[in-house]
Amino acid sequence: MKAKRYLILAILLSILGLTLNISGTSQTTPERSNLRFRAFPALLIDEIANLTVVEVNLTEVEPEFLLGIDTTNPYKDWVGGDPLNELTVSEAYTWKRIDVVLALDEEAIDRWGIDYTVRVVERADEALVHNYNLDLKISQIITYESDDSIQWMNPNVAPPGEPTLYDEAFNLLRSYFDGETKIIIVITGQETLDFYIAGLAPVNPMLRINTMVMARFQVYWTDDNLIQHEVSHCFGCDDHPEEVDVWCVMAYKTELIYIDWIVEDGIWFGPYNSNIPRAYLTYNYCSKCDQKIKYVGAGHFTGGNPMRLWPIPI
Ligand SMILES: [Zn+2]
Ligand SMILES: [Zn+2]
Repeated sequence: MKAKRYLILAILLSILGLTLNISGTSQTTPERSNLRFRAFPALLIDEIANLTVVEVNLTEVEPEFLLGIDTTNPYKDWVGGDPLNELTVSEAYTWKRIDVVLALDEEAIDRWGIDYTVRVVERADEALVHNYNLDLKISQIITYESDDSIQWMNPNVAPPGEPTLYDEAFNLLRSYFDGETKIIIVITGQETLDFYIAGLAPVNPMLRINTMVMARFQVYWTDDNLIQHEVSHCFGCDDHPEEVDVWCVMAYKTELIYIDWIVEDGIWFGPYNSNIPRAYLTYNYCSKCDQKIKYVGAGHFTGGNPMRLWPIPI
């Protein structure tokens, strides 16, 4: 089983021509940043957090019990049933290519693996490719060992002086902003006291400077939305508070999923009985976010106005 996993990884890496760097132990006392972050809530229900793929033999289920909500990405354009193919078919759009460095800590590798993580990132850009020709391209995969004594992820909620997973990763990885890399996506599997957040993105994003996002995966049908949400922050999109009634990948407004199943890519999950932020249920952008991506995000690639410029002390 393990050998098979490594074989798949080796094939994957050779197909992608990626480099895999294994770094040593990270710095013990990461320097604290003064940045502000947007934190995206995790799905808190234990059943959801711990849920794995539910094997359902649909032929044995009476049709009236099949109350499914299909959250499959409507912008999905995979070749041969695999989002990875996108890496090789969208070369025509290289001028709007977003070079991504993908980093995983050791817990992320244990919990989800590199193969799954690469596919989530490739699933996450479908709406961006479809609507804006913005194509996330993983140029490098970095693995690193996060300090197990770190108890916080979000620098904005950790007590003063306490190290955080975000700061640790940023100190370790910021040198990868070398002119080509536009976004760094860090996946951590380490549990922290701020377990209630699933993702972090900088408030004042400047491509190639501070556009590093961090996320903790939850379940298959949420993970691509989560990455799309965090990456969209890098293009200038803000969160919409719960009161704002829009169907947008940035929306915190919740929908009651009441004893329903969620279906994504033909896989059934659930049943659920909970309020779920719309950001986890849609891949769409509202008109406000659409304008931001077109003007702020896409503008960067067409020689127009680049990302907002703020004097950020980093
Ligand atoms: Zn957010
Ligand atoms: Zn929006």
